[in-house]
Amino acid sequence: PFDVLVVGGGPAGASAAIYAARKGIRTGIVAERFGGQVMDTVGIENFISVKYTEGPKLAASLEEHVKEYNVDVMKLQRAKRLEKRDYIELELENGAVLKSKTVILSTGARWRNVGVPGEEEFKNKGVAYCPHCDGPLFAGKHVAVIGGGNSGIEAAIDLAGIVSHVTVLEFNEELKADAVLQDRLYSLPNVTVLKNVQTKEFTGTDRLNGVTYIERETGAEKHVELQGVFVQIGLVPNTDWLGDVLERTRMGEIVVNNHGATSLPGVFAAGDCTNSPYKQIIISMGSGANAALGAFDYLIRN
Ligand code: FAD
Repeated sequence: PFDVLVVGGGPAGASAAIYAARKGIRTGIVAERFGGQVMDTVGIENFISVKYTEGPKLAASLEEHVKEYNVDVMKLQRAKRLEKRDYIELELENGAVLKSKTVILSTGARWRNVGVPGEEEFKNKGVAYCPHCDGPLFAGKHVAVIGGGNSGIEAAIDLAGIVSHVTVLEFNEELKADAVLQDRLYSLPNVTVLKNVQTKEFTGTDRLNGVTYIERETGAEKHVELQGVFVQIGLVPNTDWLGDVLERTRMGEIVVNNHGATSLPGVFAAGDCTNSPYKQIIISMGSGANAALGAFDYLIRN
């Protein structure tokens, strides 16, 4: 059996595997797609101490760094079941069952897509998901935020300080965000809020140049010209496969304590799949290191 088995090969998983292997204990990592969300990112400007890098380059460095250590890397493998018996058992979709004394879950998350024409085509060409990451790329431009929940309105407030104008599109008749956020939003001079509208299409040629939407009350189709769209309709953790073996929030995020421990003894979690409030590369790496040290502590006590 492994001492530490990491599930997920994004920034959190890579960091956890390196920290575990450096303790000289038997470490494995299972990853469906090494690099994780980083593979979908173009420019990265907030990975501190690296002024600029690109997703695939950072993902390659993560893998290279992991391979410096004695880590059993199992790529293109998807975990489908976790169960605690004598050891913690992890079943893969190919039928193999891996055993380990501790497991670190770092399966990340994915942004929920709107699913309209143009979304896929203009990803990274005007269509963005992370205001902390990509907001500054739209300085002085007109952008839209799709979604009027807390994350959408936080994004709109954040972006309003950088871009020239923010248009918020909300499907329902009312915004769902907390009242304090709504008050803050409505106090800003460069924000327009469109409620009861359905996003129909992201338009453009080589880059995004606008959004078409339908006013749900009248059925009228409208088009607004702009240079960027931030989709903020939810971040879905990749944790469905865990079922009820450990505690998850209503949103499906794995609940961890400050050692990265979950409710199931010996199972730790890190990164975007957890209830950590902010989801970023640097934060995921820190929490991966934290979970590995938590797992090591658990091993020497049990
Ligand atoms: P992920 O990166 O999501 O990795 C999850 C890993 O788990 C992957 O290897 C995946 O294949 C694997 N996995 C999932 N399910 C299973 C399973 N059942 N079995 C086996 N493996 C599984 N953050 C920044 O700090 N700066 C940025 O500029 C930035 N830009 C971004 C741009 C985009 C388009 C996106 C989508 C995100 C961006 N982020 C950025 C956020 C950042 O990418 C994430 O916070 C970070 O990647 C989270 O790391 P993670 O390791 O927790 O999860």
